[in-house]
Amino acid sequence: MKIAIFGSGYVGLVSGVCLAELGNEVTFVDIDSNKLESIQRGTPPIYEEGLEELLKKNLTRIHSSSAAQYDSSDAEAIFICVGTPPNPDGTPNYKFIRTVTAQIGESIKKTPHNVTIIVKSTVLPGTTEEIIRPILEEHSEKKVGRELGLAMNPEFLKEGLAIHDFMNPDRIIIGSMDEYSREILTRIYAPFSCKKLHTTPKVAEMIKYVSNAFLATKISFANEIGNICKRNGIDTEEVFTGVGMDARINPAFFVSGIGFGGSCFPKDVQALISHATNQGLPPKLLPAVLSINDEQPLRLISILKKYIPNLHGKRIGILGLSFKPCSDDIRESRVIPILASLLEEGAEIMAYDPLAIEQMKHIFPGITYVKSAEAVLNTEAVLIATAHPEFELLNYEGKVVIDGRRVRAAAKGAAIYEGVCW
Ligand code: NAD
Repeated sequence: MKIAIFGSGYVGLVSGVCLAELGNEVTFVDIDSNKLESIQRGTPPIYEEGLEELLKKNLTRIHSSSAAQYDSSDAEAIFICVGTPPNPDGTPNYKFIRTVTAQIGESIKKTPHNVTIIVKSTVLPGTTEEIIRPILEEHSEKKVGRELGLAMNPEFLKEGLAIHDFMNPDRIIIGSMDEYSREILTRIYAPFSCKKLHTTPKVAEMIKYVSNAFLATKISFANEIGNICKRNGIDTEEVFTGVGMDARINPAFFVSGIGFGGSCFPKDVQALISHATNQGLPPKLLPAVLSINDEQPLRLISILKKYIPNLHGKRIGILGLSFKPCSDDIRESRVIPILASLLEEGAEIMAYDPLAIEQMKHIFPGITYVKSAEAVLNTEAVLIATAHPEFELLNYEGKVVIDGRRVRAAAKGAAIYEGVCW
């Protein structure tokens, strides 16, 4: 199938490369020409395990274009994968969605055949029907259901495991507005044998928010319980192993630590809170999920100060900057409030990350970044903020380690070791 992807970021690029791997012809469209050039060279602009190999392998089926030059004459499906960043009030900002929808509408105006537009960006319930549909119909001069297909198909990939997740989905949600888009999406996802739910766009949109809100809640729950377990000298990990044995409770994501970050959970939980509040239904549980998540990283600093009460002028090492292992994404990383707090206390920071140093330099240009994890150990205390696998291979002997991610080698080897909730 001939597919175009508007927005070649984490979701667009991974989805497009995987769709090419499945045998489709894929054209990436983005406003960032550097991204497009690097995709065309076979060098992904982001890091995801296996992405470069898959991109290079499928390069003959992969094309790229600016929005202005995009030729939709043979396109059958066009995915919208642009960002939906938060407004100051927490609701999603649809400026990229509106622009890209208008551009797609213009580009398919003269297309003689039926084209299906698929919204993969995370948007609030009702957006596909009430915002995207009218813009698309106005600019394409075509009607959804007659000459145009429109569907909402949320993405559930996890950064760091994105290729694996796209190629091995637990479920696929297809929220079609019309028979034609339902049929196109059924064809696109035919290679996958997982559960598929055909529904309305509104339900599909809500499923994405509820999934993220539930997972974020699970993490904050694990952290609240973890804090209680720590105070009582109980191993929280063992507790959740036991809890997770209940068939009604899935053990995944019961991970205590310094909380969740990334471009999705904090943003999507806040969007759901703002959306419900605007409708006169202010949630009670979801704000608590965010506030636990905001406090958790600062617990690492409180623990550190038990060992070094005055941080002024002290050299503190940071292991990990990205919001999760095997990713170069620092959006909403839990280490950001930790670094800000250490700087405020006058500490001298030495930080290391295998993938995300350049990204963090944009936020904290003044701290010292080192090229190896070993170099970070040459400090008065080390804080572990991301569980990159290589941190398990370090020798922590004689070191003071405050751990936000439960790195076993540190727990075993360090002279002084304390975990955030263990
Ligand atoms: P991103 O910021 O990495 O990528 C968005 C891309 O869209 C950028 O490359 C940007 O240049 C491009 N863009 C903006 N305007 C454009 C236009 N007019 N035409 C073409 N391209 C344009 O964002 P992302 O992390 O890939 O997220 C995209 C959407 O998917 C968001 O709604 C997000 O909430 C959702 N989502 C993200 C993840 C994730 O793990 N990152 C997972 C599931 C869903």
